[in-house]
Amino acid sequence: MTDQEWEAQNGPLSPSEAVTRGLCWCCTGNGKLYSAFGGQQIVTPCPEKCDNGKARP
Ligand SMILES: [Zn+2]
Repeated sequence: MTDQEWEAQNGPLSPSEAVTRGLCWCCTGNGKLYSAFGGQQIVTPCPEKCDNGKARP
C-alpha cells in the first residue's frame, strides 16, 4: 500500500463536513488517524479523545 492509499483511509470528509454530521472534526468519525512519514505507515488514536469518532457534546 502506498503512503497515499494509507492516508486515504482517513476518509473523504473535511473537518467541517464531519462536524455537520455530528462526528469528530479531527478524525472525521474514524476514531483514529492514519499517517505516513519517514517510510512508516502508522495509526494513532484520535488525539481529541473523541467517543470513537463521534463528537463529544
Ligand atoms: Zn476524533
